[in-house]
Amino acid sequence: MKDAEQDIKRTRIWAVVNQKGGVGKTTTAVNLATAMAALEYRVLLVDFDSQGNASTGVGIQNRENNVYKFLVTEGADYKEYIQKTAVPYFDIIPAHPDLSGIDFEFFNHKNKFYILKEALKPLAGYYDYIFIDCPPSLGFLTVNALSAGNGILVPLQCEFYALEGLSQLLLTVDKIKENLNQDLKVSGVVLTMFDQRNNLSKQVAEDVRSCLGDLVFQTIIPRNIRLSEAPSHGVPALIYDMNCPGSQAYLRLAKEIHQQEHVLV
Ligand code: ATP
Ligand code: MG
Repeated sequence: MKDAEQDIKRTRIWAVVNQKGGVGKTTTAVNLATAMAALEYRVLLVDFDSQGNASTGVGIQNRENNVYKFLVTEGADYKEYIQKTAVPYFDIIPAHPDLSGIDFEFFNHKNKFYILKEALKPLAGYYDYIFIDCPPSLGFLTVNALSAGNGILVPLQCEFYALEGLSQLLLTVDKIKENLNQDLKVSGVVLTMFDQRNNLSKQVAEDVRSCLGDLVFQTIIPRNIRLSEAPSHGVPALIYDMNCPGSQAYLRLAKEIHQQEHVLV
């Protein structure tokens, strides 16, 4: 048990979270996972959204063994639920629509906010990074992800309402820290869908930086059509078009994270 505790501390478990919909959580989770794997980190992506966009985005057809089943099956062997993607070093546990009703399964469960944490314990040591792609809410799934993780990565869309909702998210993080997971920290905020030609984008990026300072990654993800085309081909953008500005930005983000955290054992 002690080893498992140490493994889980060494593995970076980052929830990709923002309760606002469509801000680039899944695009960031899939492409950052790919970029970290390109740097030869061992990466697992947990698709924790019943929409299953991350699973679709890496071309997973077979969802028979999915994260819902993994969590509700007593004594589940994690090896049966992990699938390889087309990218070396990058594995995924796919989602399933049933995930949307999982809170009812655990309604009376005494440790209902630690379901994911407990499930990830035995496999954490096999990965350097585990990314959890969260749904657009601060409900049961997201609270489980925040209780399981040691970091959160917040994609923030460069638009007028970017900061709206962020204070609520940060308050939630504080509450989780107080009550469920004292190890949780904000690993970083990443600005997404930045439009170079749009003054509003630049203004929002400046405002977010002056508000959050060093919490904001230097790397900004541009609005890039190739990033939105890639999922329909069932591959991460980095495989679809490695040279497009979006892919290159996710590679830069991965290198920035690598430089910040280069002491992985
Ligand atoms: P949800 O809250 O529904 O889970 P999300 O936060 O995961 O959404 P995404 O699915 O990653 O957001 O992105 C929303 C839409 O915007 C998708 O169609 C995606 O392809 C597109 N998109 C994301 N990032 C970019 C970008 N940088 N440039 C262009 N399109 C993007
Ligand atoms: Mg999503």
